[in-house]
Amino acid sequence: MYPIDLTGKTALVFGVANHRSIAWEIAKILDDAGAQIILSYQNERIFNSVESLSKKLNQPSRLIECDVSEDSKIEKAMDEIAAAGNIDVIVHSIAFAEKDDLGGPFVDVSKTGFVTALTISAYSLISIARYGSRHMGSNGGSIISMTYQASTRVFPGYNVMGTAKAALENEVKQIASDLGHMNIRANAISAGPLDTLSSRVISGYRDMKNIHKEKSPMNRNITVEEVSKTALFLASDMSSGITGEIIHVDTGYNIMGI
Ligand code: NAD
Repeated sequence: MYPIDLTGKTALVFGVANHRSIAWEIAKILDDAGAQIILSYQNERIFNSVESLSKKLNQPSRLIECDVSEDSKIEKAMDEIAAAGNIDVIVHSIAFAEKDDLGGPFVDVSKTGFVTALTISAYSLISIARYGSRHMGSNGGSIISMTYQASTRVFPGYNVMGTAKAALENEVKQIASDLGHMNIRANAISAGPLDTLSSRVISGYRDMKNIHKEKSPMNRNITVEEVSKTALFLASDMSSGITGEIIHVDTGYNIMGI
């Protein structure tokens, strides 16, 4: 437990697939702080896994299916959720690219592979912010997304997902600019490498993680708890003056020249 109280707040968390998902760690810490959690999962295939995880939360949570590849599904999910009250926090922890596009030369990425990666991993944040912001109350809210340093530097193997993260980070700033007048903040956490379903399919992931440990100022990898603690801070009033930021949780790796 941390000294942040989110009692009375509702947090909608996208991106829990299993117990290793960053979104799951964030859902847990927001739940521990007293927030009511709504878990949005991609499809029926992962329903059982998400449902059994949801039972581990302190408070009863709601589950809602939403494949973010279609705007209409996001709008419908938001409307259903909002029927029960306002949304205060939205966590976007979603990414997808075809396996073939997470390895090999970047110049070989196909147009369909590019569109898929950018649609799911980047465009979805715009759509979630559009429909979600309509259901944030007069006190505003906080939108938190997950990014990676490959948005600005080349990590061979990360390929088209780097392009998607570059788009996502730009979106965070534009969304922050659009919604700031409603007291809605938008930020992203740029996390160091963590073992999850998604990271393991990136060719070169092991090297990325080992080099991160060796070269980062703190000489270690990050923990998923460190990411979730930052999400808790961003979800809370402790970060009330922060919007449009990309916050690195990477034991300082991004500052290094070599
Ligand atoms: P994960 O595989 O657990 O989470 C990815 C989630 O995206 C899954 O829950 C999956 O169901 C969801 N998703 C994919 N396509 C979807 C769709 N069409 N509709 C709805 N949901 C969909 O992996 P993770 O590592 O927890 O990834 C979460 C976020 O963190 C991603 O944005 C990822 O890029 C980012 N990130 C991860 C790392 C890392 O090293 N693991 C580092 C930095 C940033």
